[in-house]
Amino acid sequence: MEKLYEGKAKIVYRTEDPDKYLIYFKDEATAFDATKRSHVEGKGIINNTISSILFQLLWEKGIKNHYIQKVSDREMLVWRAERFDVEVVVRNVAAGSITKRLGIPEGTVFPSPVVEFFYKNDQLRDPLICEDHILLLNLLPKEDIGKVKEMALEVNRVLSLFFEEHGIRLVDFKLEFGRLPDGSVGVIDEISPDTCRLWDMRTGEKLDKDRFRFDLGDLIEGYRRVLEKLHRG
Ligand code: UDP
Repeated sequence: MEKLYEGKAKIVYRTEDPDKYLIYFKDEATAFDATKRSHVEGKGIINNTISSILFQLLWEKGIKNHYIQKVSDREMLVWRAERFDVEVVVRNVAAGSITKRLGIPEGTVFPSPVVEFFYKNDQLRDPLICEDHILLLNLLPKEDIGKVKEMALEVNRVLSLFFEEHGIRLVDFKLEFGRLPDGSVGVIDEISPDTCRLWDMRTGEKLDKDRFRFDLGDLIEGYRRVLEKLHRG
């Protein structure tokens, strides 16, 4: 199959159907603009599994996304999408960049979710942008900005409840969006412990990529615990 794109954690291939792509989940972990890297055996398998569970849940709740089917341990079949160069972050609890940017202590619970946009641009190191910047840079049609924000908040409602039911606090997460073959806007990329902050509700333990970023413990052990909790019901 023709390789279309290779990123830090995934490879995207064309398939015989021009409207469908195949995503392969790799075992590479990167952080801090890929200045920190490591091979983490089995990470791709867990992220494919968790992403598949979450994308299926979004479809069940009527939220459009690129997921079609998990086809193997490391491979997911998805709808082709024209990616918007915007990353949408939703935060329920302060952690990561917002603690430094706004001086809010980690763990502060927000009265309502905070939505942020980032410009997906490696050279500029993904700067925080506002809605006018999105228009200025033509990253999204005007009528889709509100739609994307609404969808991100709906994803947050669905995922927060789901994780909570399984003993996990969804602290924050990053989404990407694109235009699907039928012209509608959908969630694309992945939703996994690489892209979400997930804290054990009982112990407070961090089960996500912060383990790797800040050497808090074995990365794969945290990811495995997320999957176990989701499976346990
Ligand atoms: N995130 C991501 N990819 C990025 C930047 C952030 O998946 O390129 C996720 C990150 O894992 C966290 C949320 O988005 O769940 C908010 O990240 P933040 O802005 O705090 O940045 P970071 O702490 O990663 O620098």
